[in-house]
Amino acid sequence: MTPPAGSFETGWPSALLDEIAAAGTVAVLTGAGVSAASGIPTFREAQTGLWTRFRPEDLATPEAFAANPARVWQWYQWRRSLIARAEPNGAHRAVARLQRHLIDCRVITQNVDGLHERAGARVSALHGNIWRQRCQRRCGFSETATEPDDRPEPPPCPACAAPMRPDVVWFGESLPADVLKAAVTAVEHAEVVLVAGTSGLVYPAAALPEQALARGRTVVEINPDDTPLSAVATVRCRNAADAALPALCEALALPD
Ligand code: NAD
Ligand code: ZN
Repeated sequence: MTPPAGSFETGWPSALLDEIAAAGTVAVLTGAGVSAASGIPTFREAQTGLWTRFRPEDLATPEAFAANPARVWQWYQWRRSLIARAEPNGAHRAVARLQRHLIDCRVITQNVDGLHERAGARVSALHGNIWRQRCQRRCGFSETATEPDDRPEPPPCPACAAPMRPDVVWFGESLPADVLKAAVTAVEHAEVVLVAGTSGLVYPAAALPEQALARGRTVVEINPDDTPLSAVATVRCRNAADAALPALCEALALPD
C-alpha cells in the first residue's frame, strides 16, 4: 500500500494507519526530543547554570574524560539528578503501548535516560544507560545506580582500581556490536519505521532510517523541526512526539 506523500501535523493519514495495522511490524527509533517533554534537555538546547560554559559534545568524549575526569563525572551526575526528577511522558507511554499491541514493534533509542524502560518498553539502547557505570579498563566490572553518585571524582573500580566511568557511548566511540546488530535487524524486519525526536546527526544511528529507505520501507519522521532526514523521509509528522505518538495509538484504536 502506498502511503500518502508529504507532511501532516495532526490527524494521522488513513493510508498510513492502514499500512501499520496491516503489517503490524514497526520499528521505532527515538532520540533526545522524545524526552524533552519530561524536562530533560536535548543536546542542542541551551543548558543551565554551571554548565553553560561547556558544550555537551565537549563533555561526552573520551578525550574530555582523559583531560578532566572529575568534570565529566560530575556532569553525568548532574544529568542523573535531572533524570531522577523526571517522569516518562506520553511519547514513552505510547511507544510501550505500540510494543504491547502490535505484532512486532522493536524500539531502538539513542537516549541514555532509561525513561522508555520506566514506561514499560523493551529497548535496544544504542548509546548505553546513564544509570550504569563501568570500569574504564573494561575488566568486566559494571554496576547500576539508582541515584546520582556524589563523589567528586570517578571512584576506583572495586575489581581492578582503574577509574569507573559512565556506561554510555561517547562521541568517537563504537556502539556495542550486539545492540547495533539488534537495531539493524529491527529496521530490516519492519514495514514501517517511526523516527521520533532525533536530529539525525549522530552516526551510526542516523544510518538506520537510510537503510530502511534503501529497502523501500516507509519511514515516518516525527519532529517539529527540519532535520537531514526531512528531505528524504516518506512522510513527515510536524508535531511533538508526546502529542503525535499518543494520537497514533488512539487512531489505531490500541488498548491501553
Ligand atoms: P539532539 O539533541 O541532537 O536532537 C533532538 C531532536 O529532537 C531535534 O531534532 C529537535 O527538533 C527534536 N525535538 C525536540 N523536542 C521534540 C519533541 N517534543 N518531539 C519530537 N522531537 C523533538 O538529539 P539526538 O538526535 O538524540 O542526538 C544527540 C545525542 O545526545 C544522542 O547520542 C543521545 O544519546 C544524547 N542525548 C541523550 C539524552 C537523553 O537520554 N534524554 C539527552 C540529550 C542527549
Ligand atoms: Zn576494573
